[in-house]
Amino acid sequence: MSNIISGKELSKEIRAQVKERVTEIKEKYNKVPHLVVILVGEDPASLSYVTAKERACLKAGMKSTLMRKDETITEDELLAIIDNLNNDVDVHGILVQLPLPKHIDENKVINAIQKEKDVDGFHPLNVAAVHLGEKGILPATPKGIMTMLKSTGVELKGKSALVIGRSNIVGKPVAMLLLKEHATVTIAHSRTTNIKELALKADILVAAVGRAKMVTADMIKEGAVVIDVGVNRVDDKLVGDVDFEGAKEKAAFITPVPGGVGPMTIASLLENTVECFLMLESK
Ligand code: NAP
Repeated sequence: MSNIISGKELSKEIRAQVKERVTEIKEKYNKVPHLVVILVGEDPASLSYVTAKERACLKAGMKSTLMRKDETITEDELLAIIDNLNNDVDVHGILVQLPLPKHIDENKVINAIQKEKDVDGFHPLNVAAVHLGEKGILPATPKGIMTMLKSTGVELKGKSALVIGRSNIVGKPVAMLLLKEHATVTIAHSRTTNIKELALKADILVAAVGRAKMVTADMIKEGAVVIDVGVNRVDDKLVGDVDFEGAKEKAAFITPVPGGVGPMTIASLLENTVECFLMLESK
């Protein structure tokens, strides 16, 4: 029977810490971190994500601005907005909600964000920092995952870790962060032929695929730590990539879906906004 790693509870603690730091920042600098979120188009899922981010910012005492743009905006117009925000000393974090409409090159847009304002940690220089093991802004979901892993008190050094999924925003950076903590890391993906065999050896298992309940109890090593990043809608319910009910009988620690990685992503975004503020102030 597992211990449940509650992202809901842990994220509350982090958000309270962020709020305290914002109060200190306000006393010291007479201003608060300001996050600007740009949403292009009307996608309801994206709108609900940005609304949650905005609400969390305000609750933490930060300033938040949502810039909504029509999906007909041109790439040049969007780049011009980012240029203005880069030069605005009152803005400390810039987040462009992805995906963008097809006529806009996402990489070009991300590359245009000043790296010290890149709260999502997607700018190539921040990506490079993760791979080089240097200081930079960590992408929010991997950062939240590492905070959850550390909260268990389980030593990562020397452990065998399997990350299923190799996306640039989750799988690859999580693998690099685990490597930095001296875990022995394997990355599996859609062409991996022996996932079950690899999973059964994993002390740490991170599933970031987007396939409902693909990791079943018979794939989990007794006593493993299981982090379920997946968010899948099945019959109007959210389920993870891990079959939670079965897996919790084998894992020592496991994250639920919902209430696991999701809330930690937002809490990590708030931490990143504070970090960006402090980095800009110290320039
Ligand atoms: P993604 O870009 O679609 O990447 C999915 C990865 O899974 C790919 O590397 C793919 O392999 C691999 N994959 C697909 N089918 C597989 C299979 N049968 N066996 C093994 N690997 C397989 O997804 P993502 O952006 O990383 O997100 C992954 C999941 O996490 C999604 O459910 C997403 O909604 C969720 N997510 C949650 C949060 C949160 O805050 N809770 C944040 C981000 C993402 P290939 O590379 O070979 O195609």
